[in-house]
Amino acid sequence: MDTPAKQRRRIVAGNWKMHGSRGRNRALLAGLLAPGTIDGAVQCLVFPPFVYAADAVAQLAGTSIGVGAQDVSAEAQGPFTGEVSASMLADIGCTHVLVGHSERRARHGEDDALVARKFVAALAAGLTPVLCVGEQLAERDAGAAHVVVARQLDAVLGAAGVAGLGRGVMAYEPVWAIGTGRNATPAQAQDVHAFIRARVASHDASIAAGLAILYGGSCKAANAGDMFAMPDVDGGLVGGASLDAGEFLAIWSAAAEV
Ligand code: PEP
Repeated sequence: MDTPAKQRRRIVAGNWKMHGSRGRNRALLAGLLAPGTIDGAVQCLVFPPFVYAADAVAQLAGTSIGVGAQDVSAEAQGPFTGEVSASMLADIGCTHVLVGHSERRARHGEDDALVARKFVAALAAGLTPVLCVGEQLAERDAGAAHVVVARQLDAVLGAAGVAGLGRGVMAYEPVWAIGTGRNATPAQAQDVHAFIRARVASHDASIAAGLAILYGGSCKAANAGDMFAMPDVDGGLVGGASLDAGEFLAIWSAAAEV
């Protein structure tokens, strides 16, 4: 199932989490744009907090950098105070949205069924959902990484179908590697990425071959090249390191050079 990665579009995405301000965001994006290195060869995406997404869309207009949101409601509209719908995100110019980030699963009680509904809601609004999956450290230590990832993936396959899944992007983010400075080894990432691709291939080989699967978890310039060289790693979802323009640019360049 090892379709050469270069046949798939590579993506480097920055998850800003709950960081930034109007001024800091503007400076960060200016820092990404100034060298003129980022082009469409590797898709570059940023995921600001909701309130700053429209600013980012405006600043990035006419560039190849796209904007996504970090979460979305599973509901289309209605009395859901505090929620933001997929159509609202599309309306302000977002093209992508993260669903099932481990911080939302762990700290906001999002279960597989809710994540799958969010994935479907994003597709319905014309957004590209980025489905985050990954195991906790105890689950890895118990030898259950594949079981956990399969469960998270199957929920979305069940709700969206394999064709629906294929309209999205996946991100493997082992929870023990997020924000800890402890990244998975390239071999550990490749193992799970290949597992995901094979599982999708059991439904549809051609969709699996075209599915972009990003690695996330303490990804930085120093380890990105080795990670992106793995045949089933199609880029990165970058948290902390995406807040530094130089570091994020170096990660993007690592993906462009593979
Ligand atoms: C993330 O939040 O998606 C992430 C991968 O974070 P970090 O790169 O900081 O580990």
